[in-house]
Amino acid sequence: MRILVTNDDGINAPGLWKVAEALCEFGDVVVVAPDRDQSGVGTARTLLQILRVEEVESRIEGVPARSVHGTPADCVILATEELFPEPFDLLVSGINPGANLGMDVLDSGTVGGAFRGFFRNIPSIAVSVTSVSNVRYDLAARVTTELAKAIFDHKLNQPMIFNVNVPNVDTAQIERVELTRLGPKAYLENVERGKDGQRVHYWIHHNRPIGDHAQEGTDIWAVRHNRISITPMDPNLMSGHGQQGFESMTEQISKRLGTNGHRH
Ligand code: MN
Repeated sequence: MRILVTNDDGINAPGLWKVAEALCEFGDVVVVAPDRDQSGVGTARTLLQILRVEEVESRIEGVPARSVHGTPADCVILATEELFPEPFDLLVSGINPGANLGMDVLDSGTVGGAFRGFFRNIPSIAVSVTSVSNVRYDLAARVTTELAKAIFDHKLNQPMIFNVNVPNVDTAQIERVELTRLGPKAYLENVERGKDGQRVHYWIHHNRPIGDHAQEGTDIWAVRHNRISITPMDPNLMSGHGQQGFESMTEQISKRLGTNGHRH
């Protein structure tokens, strides 16, 4: 079992090494992570500049580690295509301090790393804890190894992304492990305007709550109720095909373009 571990918080983040260490009992682990905090970059790749890779001192004996001057997606692409070309059986991205829930997963570098594994047909796990301070990584690391085992016992018929969020509470306070669906988007951005010298600058913060309408069954609801949330993300992610009568929309556009009735 070969396991690639990455994150979006950078090579020195404690969550990265906690989960890498836990996964060692389960397989051969390789760590490839950004050389700095890349939280919030989503699935972004670096295409317009070169990427540098450093061999870094591993915190776990026998586990090779590299840092990349790039995004989590860059790490996964370089690791699989170039640095460690032998196939990986599993990708784990995390452990992120701070939840990655609902439609906000599209902004997450942690989940972005997992997407890049999924695109390469590797079953991928993104794992987060719901607090940014006094983070209890141990439980999340255990959940990840148990999920990894379960994935391989289950024999997936197609690669999937599993988005895991663990409440930052004592294990004794955890209600249960729950299979969930993604909730709605919970945050938009605030823009802060500043001035240095003569020029105006802007700073985008992803911190504006936009209402509270997470239903039971969603990931947001689950962690709020002290449940460990596991969201399998469908490979047809966000496909709106067949929903809400969109056929009439395309028919209407066809008509207006005068392409109606053409058969090729
Ligand atoms: Mn992060």
